[in-house]
Amino acid sequence: MDVKKIMLDLERKHPGENEYLQAVHEVLESIEEVYNQHPEFEKAKIVERIVEPDRIITFRVTWVDDRGEIQTNLGYRIQFNSAIGPYKGGIRFHKAVNPSMLKFLGFEQTFKNALTTLPMGGAKGGSDFDPVGKSDAEIMRFCQAFMLELWQNIGPDTDVPAGDVGVGGREIGFMYGMYKKLAREYNTGVLTGKGLTWGGSLIRPEATGFGALYFVEHMLHRAGKELKGATIAISGFGNVAWGAAKKATELGAKVIAISGPDGVIHNPNGMTDEKIAYMLQLRASNQNIVAPFAEKFPDATFVPGKKAWSVKCDIALPCAFQNELTGADAEELLANGTWCVAEVSNMGCTPEAIAAFQKARILFAPGKAVNAGGVATSGLEMTQNAMHISWSAAEVDEKLHYIMQSIHEACVKAGNEGDYINYVKGANIAGFLKVAQAMLEQGIV
Ligand code: GLU
Repeated sequence: MDVKKIMLDLERKHPGENEYLQAVHEVLESIEEVYNQHPEFEKAKIVERIVEPDRIITFRVTWVDDRGEIQTNLGYRIQFNSAIGPYKGGIRFHKAVNPSMLKFLGFEQTFKNALTTLPMGGAKGGSDFDPVGKSDAEIMRFCQAFMLELWQNIGPDTDVPAGDVGVGGREIGFMYGMYKKLAREYNTGVLTGKGLTWGGSLIRPEATGFGALYFVEHMLHRAGKELKGATIAISGFGNVAWGAAKKATELGAKVIAISGPDGVIHNPNGMTDEKIAYMLQLRASNQNIVAPFAEKFPDATFVPGKKAWSVKCDIALPCAFQNELTGADAEELLANGTWCVAEVSNMGCTPEAIAAFQKARILFAPGKAVNAGGVATSGLEMTQNAMHISWSAAEVDEKLHYIMQSIHEACVKAGNEGDYINYVKGANIAGFLKVAQAMLEQGIV
């Protein structure tokens, strides 16, 4: 494989799709050596095929806002790869959503899902709909209009969407309601992240954050370190940040910062149950600001315009958006003595930030391994739906534990460089080999 040539070809074919090109480049760089040891991959042109989505579905979503004005957004579903199972991945509602963003996410999802040990292919969808400042009724009408277009392309054995940035339990509920009306079937397995009274899985809301902390525990344990007593800075305050803050606190770490697009909250005394519960209220308010946290809890302070990475911490957990931690942020964290960074958001760190962490030889793990507990628990939700049963929280949590341990082991095995575990390489190689092998066995399709 000639990474340079493949990248040049892709840049020519997909100009300006920066996030997508960044995600592909990171994977190709990590797998190059292993790939070249498999002439059968080269012969079947696996790389040339795996970097392009199977198909992209694009549609117009028109809806009426509370003032009676007609709004038009763009909707997408990117069915990236179905070598190891039906398409699976979240839906993102954010004003910056475009094909490049969803292609990067669908590409990452393909390898992440392969790491979970469960049979799920990769997909992603979304819209440039901006939930900020919208009423619940507007969100409902948008979700319904979105599903009106999408429903014929999805199904429990075809493509199973879930939540992502801007899409949580409320939005999944509105989308399922419309799906059910159109399909005239009570087909719960078509979406995951559902409500607990109608086919949702216990622990699914917590799973991304909980799984991330289980992964971090394994990383630390292997390195002879402990979570107990460690200080943690978290970016974001949404569902993923909430689950991470909850489990980190339960495991004895101190979450000293959370953040929003408006600035950072310094929280020197750590989290309480009340503070953690309030994060959910902040997200549900649709305002996308974190400042009210410091008004509600006087021992916390709000610093406008600053990121979570300005706070001195042992462990940094990006939980918000891609490329939210830059090279300059990485230098600031390293100067402040941070010794572990685990991406909980997808591609949360820029390539410069990752290079700085790896050069400094601190513990670093990529999103596709760390945050895979979310989609893994979606897989467990699909299993429960298919069997028409529901497992207890303890059963789901135990399976999530086991999956995160397996992912950690797979990363260590494939990313062991002797004196350093390169978790980026480990995750990319382990995920790639599984998908590539399946593609090879299924012929040229
Ligand atoms: N959006 C989440 C992710 O990035 C979850 C996807 C799912 O549960 O299908 O993995």
